[in-house]
Amino acid sequence: MNKKIVIIGAGVAGINAATKLVDNGYPGELITIIDKGNDPHNRLPEEVMTGMLGAGGWSDGKLTYHTAIGGVLSKYCGEEKAMELMDQVISNFRRFHPKPEEIFCSDPQAEPDFIKPYFGLRLFPVWHIGSNYLHEIAKTWYSYLLDKGVEFRWKEKVTKINFKHNIVVTDASEIDNFTLEYDELIFAVGKSGIDFGKKLTDDYQLPTEPKSVQIGVRFEAPQKYFQKLIDVSYDFKLYQKFDNVSLRSFCTNNNAAYVAVEETYGDVSYNGHAKKGEEFRNDMTNFGILMEIKGIENPFEWSRDVVNKLQIGGTGLYYSPLRNPSKTSEHELINTTQIFDLTTVKEVMGEYFTYVENFINDMDKIFEFGGDYGMYIPEVKYLSPEPLVDYKNLALVDYPNVHFVGDALSARGITVSGAQGIYVAESLL
Ligand SMILES: Cc1cc2nc3c(=O)[nH]c(=O)nc-3n(C[C@H](O)[C@H](O)[C@H](O)COP(=O)(O)OP(=O)(O)OC[C@H]3O[C@@H](n4cnc5c(N)ncnc54)[C@H](O)[C@@H]3O)c2cc1C
Repeated sequence: MNKKIVIIGAGVAGINAATKLVDNGYPGELITIIDKGNDPHNRLPEEVMTGMLGAGGWSDGKLTYHTAIGGVLSKYCGEEKAMELMDQVISNFRRFHPKPEEIFCSDPQAEPDFIKPYFGLRLFPVWHIGSNYLHEIAKTWYSYLLDKGVEFRWKEKVTKINFKHNIVVTDASEIDNFTLEYDELIFAVGKSGIDFGKKLTDDYQLPTEPKSVQIGVRFEAPQKYFQKLIDVSYDFKLYQKFDNVSLRSFCTNNNAAYVAVEETYGDVSYNGHAKKGEEFRNDMTNFGILMEIKGIENPFEWSRDVVNKLQIGGTGLYYSPLRNPSKTSEHELINTTQIFDLTTVKEVMGEYFTYVENFINDMDKIFEFGGDYGMYIPEVKYLSPEPLVDYKNLALVDYPNVHFVGDALSARGITVSGAQGIYVAESLL
């Protein structure tokens, strides 16, 4: 246990990895975590993607517990181990939670008849933490790691990595001439670092595994229409399957539900989160309607092109038959351009947008919201070509001391990202 470990990204994956290490006696002094965002005391509400606990730390905190949700895990370690790793992540969130008794679990057992024959419903447990508790969790968790001697470097962006000589370079280098050597590197940059990961993949010509396209819209409506389904499943996952396209509702937020803006590659797309606390209640529901499209030749480039063409005036789009865009939890207008017909969207997304329209029409048959809804366009999960890793320890096949984890690898959610971090830490221990 004397190797210098550098973790890039203090997100869910990086922080769970560090915690597993120090919990098992690894000297904190040998661990450095670099993050381009802020520590939990200085992180602002609008810093959605960066800083302590990463995007997961300022999200809605829905901890999903199923190996088919939130990205890929069991492919590496098998079903049983995957569930055990997810248990560890959930237990970490409980451990640093100021009021663990307030974490509630939604665990639907059967598909309700009223969604048939239009949709299927995925059944799995979800623990719901809520954004504002996550901030408290982040502070307590940070103190724990500091006490263990872990070094944090905040507001410092890693700009280069020399895999051949084990050196990390940050943007403080020009001022400090700062470089850092490592024996083991955990690359945990999440979605906000996906372009960096892609650059490394290209520069080092890393072998990759192909991925499908995941794109759609963020749907928003008053909660009352969906209440009967929310009563069955808080984070409901409705799905429809066709030959090469499947659709699902994704990341449902209720009660105090806000649409969040994501910026990737300079383009705006949408996501959502929910607050706890009556003062934030707006009685809205939002969720992604995501299509998984198979058979597109260059899925990553295709998604980027579609998202880029769906920008007007430097933002994504908002469409509603009746409503106007909502405000953020900080009472600011959501960064979006309102459109009054869907011609552009249909031109850009082509036949695929018909699937989204049909999904909304089918929901309307059950929930009867009429025109009282809006959609923020696009929502996207950039599944960049996944670097090929050794399934035992998620290390790059050509660089066995560089481990990719979380959204930077194949995760798309908190539990799976954290679990991948722990999986790597276990291999290092
Ligand atoms: C608004 C929103 C709501 C969400 N809600 C949920 C939810 O309820 N449930 C769920 O399961 N998932 C949710 N997600 C997804 C979830 O947050 C991510 O899957 C998860 O955070 C990924 O963890 P990660 O550690 O891989 O990356 P992240 O948590 O994104 O952390 C990556 C960290 O790396 C840092 N970083 C990036 N590039 C660099 C660089 N070059 N140098 C230094 N530091 C860098 C960033 O600052 C960031 O702190 C949500 C995401 C968003 C944006």
